[in-house]
Amino acid sequence: TRTPVNVTVTGAAGQIGYALLFRIASGQLLGPDTPVRLRLLEITPALKAAEGTAMELDDCAFPLLAGIDISDDPRVAFDGANVALLVGARPRTKGMERGDLLEANGGIFKPQGEAINAVAADDIRVLVVGNPANTNALIAQRHAPDVPAARFTAMTRLDQNRAYSQLAKKLDVTVNDVKRLAIWGNHSATQYPDLFHAEVNGKNAAETVNDQKWIEADFIPTVAKRGAAIIEARGASSAASAANAAIDHVHDWVNGTAEGDFVSAGVVSDGSYGVPAGLISSFPVTSTGGDYEIVQGLAIDDFSRARIDASVAELAEERDAVQGLGLI
Ligand code: NDP
Repeated sequence: TRTPVNVTVTGAAGQIGYALLFRIASGQLLGPDTPVRLRLLEITPALKAAEGTAMELDDCAFPLLAGIDISDDPRVAFDGANVALLVGARPRTKGMERGDLLEANGGIFKPQGEAINAVAADDIRVLVVGNPANTNALIAQRHAPDVPAARFTAMTRLDQNRAYSQLAKKLDVTVNDVKRLAIWGNHSATQYPDLFHAEVNGKNAAETVNDQKWIEADFIPTVAKRGAAIIEARGASSAASAANAAIDHVHDWVNGTAEGDFVSAGVVSDGSYGVPAGLISSFPVTSTGGDYEIVQGLAIDDFSRARIDASVAELAEERDAVQGLGLI
């Protein structure tokens, strides 16, 4: 039997955690042949709730689940971690300024980055889900100087999945007919879901839609504001779909993306497409051999350029703000 892979999940007692842990333990994150040991990190007041979730995990008798540890200490929870899903974050509450939000999250992601640097396994791969995900990932990454920067990523896969579904509905096809539909920039309302490089049954998606007004006034805002629409309808944030996207992101990172296709992930920019080096921005990426790489050579027209630039400008502002606060 194979040695279990250590998967650390923060915010394990939250809504996304509840939707995520059972899927990890059932083998959907790393595949049906890979046993996992779950390491749950929670803040002290939520430890009891995390224990409750762990009891339910026990009660599933998952054949691949080699064990569960629970801690409120990042140095314990990230010890030997091979995969880390950073879900717990400080949500924006009413009247909170952006600086307060970034500062509160700096207090979470700085010590987590330091702990990952100190105690995680050499092959550690980190996905940040907790918002503001790109900038939280940047904070953690900057505090883990001994870990290759490319091992820190932020989730835009849910945005991608939402875009797939909206496009498929519009064209009355299934998501299986869609390929190469990526998100650029920040996981925020400024994100840019790109139909100009996407394909539907092998044909260019924007040309197939042939309705620029729908792309600008309907498709892009619907994808970007989908989170708010879910809250409005459900009375709670999306959780199962966010967990599903986290599974997709790590699964494809570790197991590889399909030949000829690409997916979306927030990764450290190397300056590609004019995105300032060092920012954690979403790009079209492929994975072979366990590394996400930015797809090169896509032609960017004026419309896409302006959208990408606007979202990247927001990322640069967030970086400057956390720099100003001394968080990086
Ligand atoms: P959720 O599990 O619903 O969400 C967790 C985070 O994921 C939030 O920051 C949320 O951002 C973010 N997120 C990213 N994408 C999405 C999406 N598409 N839909 C919804 N959320 C998304 O939050 P809960 O409040 O239920 O649980 C959070 C848990 O984290 C709590 O148990 C808390 O104790 C814990 N926590 C743990 C920490 C730690 O381990 N050190 C630190 C801080 C909190 P947004 O708010 O913008 O929706």
